[in-house]
Amino acid sequence: MTDQTVKENSVATVHYTGTLPDSKEVFDSSEGRDPLTFLVGHRQMIPGFEEEMMGAKVGERREFTLTADRAYGERDEEAVLQIPRENFAPLEEEASLEKGMQLVAQMPHGPAPFTVIELTDEIVTGDFNHALAGQSLTFSVEVVELRDASEEELAHGHVHGPGGHHH
Ligand code: ZN
Repeated sequence: MTDQTVKENSVATVHYTGTLPDSKEVFDSSEGRDPLTFLVGHRQMIPGFEEEMMGAKVGERREFTLTADRAYGERDEEAVLQIPRENFAPLEEEASLEKGMQLVAQMPHGPAPFTVIELTDEIVTGDFNHALAGQSLTFSVEVVELRDASEEELAHGHVHGPGGHHH
């Protein structure tokens, strides 16, 4: 247990705080919540997050800043789409559309979240980029717990039990 480190196929439980390096604004944090548990090396986390935590022991805290290419990627202007407002008619019966609203489009490959960035009577402009795309991100991460993944977890590609999936 004590010689465990964060490595491929380990299950890591961490507390983390993510801030924007320029404004120091906290965009996400596990403080005051349950820590985050994930299977290392299975693309559950942004790539740079795992790379920077490799080799860390329980109780160790690391702080690092990731450029966008190691976090949520660069912004893709082709992921800004104009959608006829009539497509939103069923939704508008319940609530009015507003700029800044986050919605989920049902696409052929699955649900795709987007942000409404412009609104006219005819057209809704949706930004399908991740809200943190194009941004450098600073993380402060403390390792709370480490263990090896079970065969079943490795086969499924995610964590079972507390903090993970239940079947
Ligand atoms: Zn499973």
